[in-house]
Amino acid sequence: MNYRHAYHAGNHTELLKHSALILILRHLQAKEKPFFVLDTHGGIGEYDLGSEKALKTGEADGGIRRLVKSGAPSVLVDFVRGFNGGGDITRYPGSPAIIRAHLRDKDRLAACELHHDDIDTLRRNMGRDDRVAVHHRDAYEAMNALLPPTERRGLVLIDPPYEKIDEEDKLASALLKAHKKWPTGVYMAWYPIKSSTSFPRLKRALAEAEIPNVLCAELTLNPTDEISLVGGGLIIINPPWQLDKELENLTNDLRTAMRSPRGRADVSWVTPQK
Ligand code: SAM
Repeated sequence: MNYRHAYHAGNHTELLKHSALILILRHLQAKEKPFFVLDTHGGIGEYDLGSEKALKTGEADGGIRRLVKSGAPSVLVDFVRGFNGGGDITRYPGSPAIIRAHLRDKDRLAACELHHDDIDTLRRNMGRDDRVAVHHRDAYEAMNALLPPTERRGLVLIDPPYEKIDEEDKLASALLKAHKKWPTGVYMAWYPIKSSTSFPRLKRALAEAEIPNVLCAELTLNPTDEISLVGGGLIIINPPWQLDKELENLTNDLRTAMRSPRGRADVSWVTPQK
């Protein structure tokens, strides 16, 4: 495992992913009944944007810092500002930190991380919190073991590093298996966009299995060139009501705020709503 998220935290692809995460968490909070979140690829939980790794790539400058500078209203900017105590943006929250901040007393988070160093940092960053369990285990094995949750409502966030060429197929088969065990859960999987036909096998696998309510949201800041990471997409199964409209606004707003006239914002249903 070579991937370290500290090089990429707060980059442009995190903007859609983490904004959508906040929107879904807010929907889950709208009902009193407790919810459960499984964060299959947790990373280290929060990131120092002044670290050697972050400075080496400077990716946050073209991501969260650019969004903050745009002055555009944004749920993510509000969250990140709060995370930085209202001061300069020197820290960026990873998905476990964003999720934890949205848990109420009885909600739960299980965050998994496989990297032998990053798991210790994630544990440290999550501290002691009875609502949060940190697992040093494989994402797809955890999906099989921890689902369905006793709460019977909640979210599975799947955010792999895509280091291996079979990741799309592994993700598709884990999603199909998890959906069989827990068909009513909300699932959100992130994927990178480099080519104009990103992640067709995942979308086809869900369509062929006739899984209903599969939404796709994509945001690219530049035209695809088959090489560069120009954006990211989200596959969301069972999105909360009206999330499709919220994501349409979000992707268009982000494209405008990031001044990306050559980029593309697209929200569409992979399979119909039921
Ligand atoms: N979700 C995080 C966030 O939004 O802040 C970022 C996750 S990063 C893209 C992917 C993480 O998955 C890396 O920290 C990597 O070490 C971890 N990882 C890679 N393969 C894994 C596996 N099979 N199971 C669990 N974690 C894995």
